[in-house]
Amino acid sequence: MGIDVGMNYLAVASTTDKKCSFFAGGEIKNLRNQYKSMRKRLQSKGTLSAKRMLKYISGKEKRLMRDVNHTISKEIVKFAVEKGVSVIGLEDLKGIRDSTLYKTPKKRRYDHSSWAFRQLQTFIEYKAREAGIITHYVDPSYTSQTCIRCNHISKNNRNRLSFRCEKCGYENNADLIGAINIEHKTRDSRYILEFQGCLSATQTNA
Ligand SMILES: [Zn+2]
Repeated sequence: MGIDVGMNYLAVASTTDKKCSFFAGGEIKNLRNQYKSMRKRLQSKGTLSAKRMLKYISGKEKRLMRDVNHTISKEIVKFAVEKGVSVIGLEDLKGIRDSTLYKTPKKRRYDHSSWAFRQLQTFIEYKAREAGIITHYVDPSYTSQTCIRCNHISKNNRNRLSFRCEKCGYENNADLIGAINIEHKTRDSRYILEFQGCLSATQTNA
């Protein structure tokens, strides 16, 4: 199963046998936008009381996201268990803070929210482990730009929330395309590991 994390839906999951689920954060998007504009106003003031207020708001936001991430990660792992998933694929977002990587819109949108996305992934990781499910991180490049029908890669394929392949015309929800491509990448790299014998059970039995 592949998981795409993002601003629109907090997470979208897609399994190898094409079962998918959208995990929305409810009012979270609006709340976070409110915090964002408050932060902007306070930052431009720069006074001591503004700084204190800024600290208070960021603490509130952190607690809110923590609660939401706990709830969503629980739902995601529950979905994975129900669908008999053995491996959960996630995007490796660690490199995303690197300024040289700020090239695609997908990477840019992780800018301020990256800690919350990383936290959600970490929660998924340990809840999955408790359920006996492996998590695997894959390179996030082009996961939102690659057509799942013809493999054509272009940033023109993606227009905010919708995906439409400029070559073959395939259309779908952009976040779901992300999750499907992450699932593909995860499966590919698991096969490679298996092929190289890294996952063979005989090694552990030996
Ligand atoms: Zn296509």
